[in-house]
Amino acid sequence: METKNILIENAVIVADRIKKGSLLIENDKIVEINDKIVANNVDDVINAEKKVLIPGLVNTHTHLSMSLMRGLADDLPLDTWLNDHIWPVEANLNGEHCYAGALLACAEMIKSGTTCFNDMYFFMDSVAKAADEAGIRGMLSHGMIDLGDEDKRKAEFKETKRIIEKCHDTADGRIKVSFGPHSPYTCSEELLEGVRKEADKYGLKIHIHASETQKEVEDVLEAHRKRPFEYLDEIGLLGEDVLAAHAVWLSDNEMEIIKERGVKLSHNPSSNMKLASGISPVSKLLEKGICVSLGTDGAASNNSLDLFEEMKTAALLQKVHTLDPTVLNAHEVFEMATINGAAALGLENGIGTIEVGKKADIVLVDMKTPSLTPFRNPVSHLVYSANGADVDTVICNGEMLMKNRELQTIDEASVISLAEEASQDLLSKS
Ligand SMILES: [Zn+2]
Repeated sequence: METKNILIENAVIVADRIKKGSLLIENDKIVEINDKIVANNVDDVINAEKKVLIPGLVNTHTHLSMSLMRGLADDLPLDTWLNDHIWPVEANLNGEHCYAGALLACAEMIKSGTTCFNDMYFFMDSVAKAADEAGIRGMLSHGMIDLGDEDKRKAEFKETKRIIEKCHDTADGRIKVSFGPHSPYTCSEELLEGVRKEADKYGLKIHIHASETQKEVEDVLEAHRKRPFEYLDEIGLLGEDVLAAHAVWLSDNEMEIIKERGVKLSHNPSSNMKLASGISPVSKLLEKGICVSLGTDGAASNNSLDLFEEMKTAALLQKVHTLDPTVLNAHEVFEMATINGAAALGLENGIGTIEVGKKADIVLVDMKTPSLTPFRNPVSHLVYSANGADVDTVICNGEMLMKNRELQTIDEASVISLAEEASQDLLSKS
C-alpha cells in the first residue's frame, strides 16, 4: 500500500501538556509530535497557526437516522413523545431513510468535530454504509425491542446477527458492531439474558438505555421489585463491556453496582433537559471513578449533534444542580468528550488522546474568531466559548474529512437534498 503522510505545523496541541508544535500522520496513525518536524514526501502540509489541535470528539449515544425527525415533535414528555410521535413515524422507516438520515448526521458530526459515534437504531447496515462513505468511525447496534413477544425476540437476534456478520470490523476497522437491547422496560428478561450470552460468545459490547426517567424506575420497580440497575445486575447483564445511556435516576446502591461491575455511562444532558427527564449525578459518579462519557442522543430530542454544545451544557447543568461552580471543570468535561468516550467504547488504546502510535483522529479548531479571543486558555475556550462551527479541519483514521470547513468525503449540498426528500417521504407515509 502507498504511504500517505499529512504534516500539521504550528498548532497548539492539546495532549498531556498543551504545547505549540507539529504533528506527523503516516497512513492512519500519529507517528511524531515535536516542536518542529522535518519530513520528506509529505502529501499534505497544513499550517495550523492560531488553531488548536485536539483529539476527534467521541459521541457515545446517538440515533443518527433520527436526524430526519429533527423538529418533528418538541416540548413533550418522553412517553408521549415516543408513543404518539416517534414510534408511529419509525413504523414506516426503511433502509433508504436510515441511510439518508445517517449521512446527514455524519455531515453534521464532522462539521462539529466528532470523529467517532456510538449508534443504536434500525437498518444498521444502511447506517454503516453512510459512515463508511463519510469516513467516520462508529460502533453500531440494532435496537432490540421485544415487549415480551417471543417471535419478535427471535427476529431481533436474527437481525443483530445479520448486522454483526455484514458490518462488524469493516471500513478498515472503523466500523464495529455491538448488541443494542433498547432498555429494561422494552426488553424481556429472556432477551436481556440472551444478549449477555451472545455478547460473551461474540466478544462484543452491549449498548443500552437505563434509568432515563422517574417513570422508568417506577415501572421497573413494579415489574421486578428492583430499580433498573439492580434488576440488570440481578439477571447478570452488567459488566465492563456495557455502556448505559442516561443513568439519570440512581440510588446510592445503583452507583455502587455501576462501579463494582465497571459499567460505562453516557451522559446526555441536552436530551435529559429537553425531555425534562432529570439530572444525572455526574460529578458524584466521576468522583467514584466511574467512566462517564458524553452523548447527544438523537437529533429529535436534542436537537443537534454538536458535542461542543454538549460539553458546555454538561458543565453548567452539573454546577447548577449541585450549586457548586467548582464541579465538572472544563478539563473534566473535555475528557468526557474525548478519552472517556474512547474508554466507554473500549477504544482507549486507539483513540481519545493525541499520542504517538494512536490513530490519527484529529480536529483543528480555529481560534482566530472574536468569540475565542483573547487566545488564552485553550481547554476553557473549547468548553465554554467554542461551538461546532469553529471546527476548521477534521481527520479520521488518517483521512481528511474536512478542510477549511469544506467536507471532503461528502457532497454537502446533495446530502442535504437527499435528507430533505427522505424526511418528506417518511412523513408522508405516517
Ligand atoms: Zn437514546
